[in-house]
Formats: sequence, C-alpha cells, structure tokens
Amino acid sequence: MALVKIDNVSFTYPNETSPVLKNIHVTIQQGEFIVLIGQSGCGKSTLLRHFKRELQPHGEMAGQIFYKGCDLQQLNAEVAAADIGYVFQNPDNQIVTDKVWHELAFGLESLGLDSVTIRRRVAEMANFFGIQKWFHQKTTALSGGQKQLLNLASIMVMQPKLLLLDEPTSQLDPIAALEFIQTLHRLNKELGITIILIEHRLEEVLPLADRVLIMDSGEILFDGLPRDILMTL
Ligand code: ADP
Ligand code: ADP
Repeated sequence: MALVKIDNVSFTYPNETSPVLKNIHVTIQQGEFIVLIGQSGCGKSTLLRHFKRELQPHGEMAGQIFYKGCDLQQLNAEVAAADIGYVFQNPDNQIVTDKVWHELAFGLESLGLDSVTIRRRVAEMANFFGIQKWFHQKTTALSGGQKQLLNLASIMVMQPKLLLLDEPTSQLDPIAALEFIQTLHRLNKELGITIILIEHRLEEVLPLADRVLIMDSGEILFDGLPRDILMTL
C-alpha cells in the first residue's frame, strides 16, 4: 500500500477566487525521498499544509489525501501527530525550550513516557546526529545550522514515519545547508524515513532525491527521476 496518496486534490483559499491547487495526483511509497520544487507562489507550502490538517481540500473537485490508506481527515489525531513530522524555514519558531537536552526530551515528556525511555530515545537520536556534545548548551547559543539540526533531531525523537520540510535550509549558509541535506539523506537511507522536501538548492538535493515533483501554478508539471529533469534543464 502507498504511504501517501494525494487523490485529485484542489484547493482555493477562503475569499479567493482562483484555485491554488488544481487536481493534484501524487502517490508516495514508503521510503521515498521526494523533492518538491517550483517558483515561489506556485502552491508548494499549501500542498504540504494539507498534511497538518490546517487546510482541507475544498472546491468543486475537492479530492482526498490518504495516509496508509486512511483519509487524512478521518485519521486519529494522535496517529497523525506521531507519524508526520514537520520542519519549517525558521527553527526559532519551532524550538520551545532553553537547553538542548530539554528540547530533545520535550516531545517525549509531553507524551508522558518514563524517564528511562526518554533518555534512551534522546541518546539514540543525538548519537545519530552527533550532537550529544550540545546537550547542556543553551538553544539560543547555537548557530542557525545547529538550531535547524536540533529542530530536526527533536522531531525525529518522536519517531515519525513521514517528514515534511518546507525550505528548511533557506536561512542557512551553504555549508550548514549541505550538512542538513546530507542528514536528511541519512535519515532516509539508514532509518527508512519517507521525506517530502521543498528545497531551492537543487545542486545539493537532486543527486540525493529518489524523485522530483515540479509544481507550476498549482499543478504538478513533472513527476519523475532527478536525472530526467537534469536532462531537460
Ligand atoms: P509556495 O510555497 O510555492 O511559495 P504557497 O503555497 O505559499 O506557494 O502559495 C500559493 C499561493 O497561495 C500564492 O499565490 C499565495 O499568495 C497564496 N496564499 C498563500 N497563503 C494564503 C492564504 N492564507 N490566503 C490566501 N492566499 C494565500
Ligand atoms: P540543565 O542543563 O538545564 O541544568 P540538567 O543538565 O540538570 O539541566 O538536566 C535536566 C534533565 O535532563 C535531568 O532530568 C537530567 O537527568 C536530564 N539530562 C541532562 N543531560 C542528560 C544526558 N546527557 N543524558 C540523559 N539525561 C540527561
């Protein structure tokens, strides 16, 4: 079964007349690393925001999004929150605690897990990211690139299956951006995390992606292998 099926989704913002998404069809298998590209304003963020259930397909041909075969709208809220992780442009808007260790533990604490389990899961993910050395640092003392890695690690501690990222490197310098993208690649290859990444840094990301979606004016113009778009660029 596909992990995600976006089935004929159209969307128009309330009080707007023209649709921002038009008849989107995309099927995503577990373990895929997908890059979503397209000019600013073409609807990329709007599409990913549907997964947060902030937005729902609507309009004449509303369509549906399925996650593991369930209509996303019907999916249990706890399952949706646990299985689907989000990373946005600015980690400052997502980091909620003062110390790195607390940031990594925060989500698990709010699930009410016991401290042994919390320590084990934090340690495992920190080890994967190589960030144990930051444990006692203040989150505000980290660089932008470090904050975004911490943000990602804090989400991964929750063991999501699907990771959605909306321009996570846009505020990072080129070296930090590359490190972040390579970390995503490792999460995908080593832990099998399914990834949908909105990203402008094509040179860095296309060689690592399994599949590329190109959007234009709310439509999917291209859905295929990175090497096939490289030939047409
Ligand atoms: P992208 O992520 O590709 O830059 P967006 O999904 O952010 O594109 O935006 C797609 C279009 O929808 C743009 O024309 C944008 O101005 C419009 N839009 C985005 N958010 C809203 C909103 N809350 N209300 C009305 N229009 C919006
Ligand atoms: P702070 O750095 O804010 O003073 P502490 O270092 O005292 O906080 O840690 C707060 C909580 O996090 C404590 O429950 C502590 O046991 C736990 N903790 C801190 N560092 C680690 C670590 N390296 N591994 C596991 N748990 C830790």
